[in-house]
Amino acid sequence: MSGNRVGIVGCGAMGLYTLKHFVDSPDPLHIHVFESAALPGCGMPYRDGMNADYMLCNAFSREIPPLTRTLAQWLKTQSPAELDEWELRPDDIDARAFYPRVLIGEFLSAEFEALCKAAETAGHRVQVHKSCRVANICVEQDAAALVVDSESGEQCIAVDTVVIATGHDWPTHPSIDEIELLSPWPYTQITQQQPGQIGILGSSLSAVDIVVALGHAHGEFIEQSGSVSWTPNEGAEALHVTMVSRNGIMPEGDFYYPFPYEPLVCITREAVAKEVQSDKPDLLNRVFQLLLDELDTADPAYLAHLGEDARTITGFASAYFKDRETRGGLKAVRDDLQEVRASMRRKETIAYRYALLRGHENVEIALPHLDDQEWEDFTEYLLPVFADCYAALPHLSIARILAMHEAGVLSIVASGDDASFTRSAAGQIQVAFDGQELVFDCMFDARGQSPAAVSALPFSSLTDILVEDSAPVLEPFKLALSVETTAQVYCLALPQVLERYPFSQGLPNCCELAAAAVSDALTTLKRISIQYTA
Ligand SMILES: Cc1cc2nc3c(=O)[nH]c(=O)nc-3n(C[C@H](O)[C@H](O)[C@H](O)COP(=O)(O)OP(=O)(O)OC[C@H]3O[C@@H](n4cnc5c(N)ncnc54)[C@H](O)[C@@H]3O)c2cc1C
Repeated sequence: MSGNRVGIVGCGAMGLYTLKHFVDSPDPLHIHVFESAALPGCGMPYRDGMNADYMLCNAFSREIPPLTRTLAQWLKTQSPAELDEWELRPDDIDARAFYPRVLIGEFLSAEFEALCKAAETAGHRVQVHKSCRVANICVEQDAAALVVDSESGEQCIAVDTVVIATGHDWPTHPSIDEIELLSPWPYTQITQQQPGQIGILGSSLSAVDIVVALGHAHGEFIEQSGSVSWTPNEGAEALHVTMVSRNGIMPEGDFYYPFPYEPLVCITREAVAKEVQSDKPDLLNRVFQLLLDELDTADPAYLAHLGEDARTITGFASAYFKDRETRGGLKAVRDDLQEVRASMRRKETIAYRYALLRGHENVEIALPHLDDQEWEDFTEYLLPVFADCYAALPHLSIARILAMHEAGVLSIVASGDDASFTRSAAGQIQVAFDGQELVFDCMFDARGQSPAAVSALPFSSLTDILVEDSAPVLEPFKLALSVETTAQVYCLALPQVLERYPFSQGLPNCCELAAAAVSDALTTLKRISIQYTA
């Protein structure tokens, strides 16, 4: 096939699943993989050194889409000695278990090697450029030239298709109200903090990582048959950690649901697609109605319990969060842990949570079609609920959080929307809200990845030729360029994808998004090849 040169820029989970889908191409490809780190495959959240081995992945083993094999199959190939390093025994390997992210990083890196071999066997050629940063992408008439920085200097590699999978983009100096916060990565930034008053901005997944890392650095978790306690190290008595978030609550724990999933009844992919195709107004409202119907079918008492306002887009989030807010952040976490443990033990699905968890994935189909006002309403009123459903925590993470709370060193506060952040003359961070003031020796930023416009990609020659700087990238993620070219450029970089696909960070999403881009790229390559042959 002509025009078969492919460049994958960045090889974390997104680049890896992109490679997997290209390897499935029946036509031979010449694939270049560029990764600025030394180890392709794992990416930032699963990389050893960046993350500690006690930080858990919140996708259970079977939810992680297979590459050449599943995580459990790979684990079974590890020797008892290797498993022992992870405090695992062969009979601990379970498709429903949550594993440390760094362990998953080892799996992803091993699968990268396995995919490269599978590619060669399938007749593709793969060239891996490790410790190689793509510094620019110059689109020419018949190719895209990737300008690459490596230890051996700068070089230029021409390809026909580029997939940008450069992943997370964190500010080096995160800040709020111009007050500098600390980045939680690498995790040693957390563990090297001296015991004192430590603030965390946020109370979701990254906040859990920070709390647990502080717990390990300054004390000991004693984990015995499901119960966890924590004691401080000698000299660490000054440690106090406060999570500061708008509504002062945490995500709920992972609960039982059937996997493979059982189909939804009302808010199915087909039903949402039908609403998208209809020319009636109020798309967001119509899709929201499907969600309400699903909730009413799954658990007729749920919406009745939340009250009439919950049946409106503007009232849904406040009704949804109210119960946890009223009980108080960490009290609600304790109650919830009992409920989700019972759900797992009895294999009983919490019906309304299942409807929301699965339903929101189908709401996403409608997002690229919302008008500006609907998009604003969606991000303000519905996104917080869906982000909460999506961030379900492994039970062990919750138990560790509660252990630190019960030891008196962890609290959570609701700062509302109008908190202000200042630095005192002594260098401490002051957080003021509702007539209260909290003072911290340092504060970590745990707000997660922000979306960014496609014009913010760090490839100046490419961003200069975008047709529209501010247009969000939409499936199949191909960039519209203002020059005549046979080259095709796809953008699966997370901040840009998150602009219109806000739930796209998990490993299953990486697989799905990569499939959409690769399928489109291969169709175009095939078309070009037919033209060449003709
Ligand atoms: C702390 C954290 C915890 C998470 N936990 C979970 C979880 O528990 N469960 C879950 O499902 N999801 C989780 N996620 C989300 C998720 O799995 C990630 O978002 C996923 O890793 C995205 O992969 P990526 O390849 O897009 O990005 P990244 O992992 O950031 O990988 C991008 C890669 O591109 C390379 N790169 C960047 N620029 C260049 C360049 N110019 N040239 C060459 N290479 C380049 C980088 O070195 C990097 O290896 C977590 C995310 C974070 C941040």
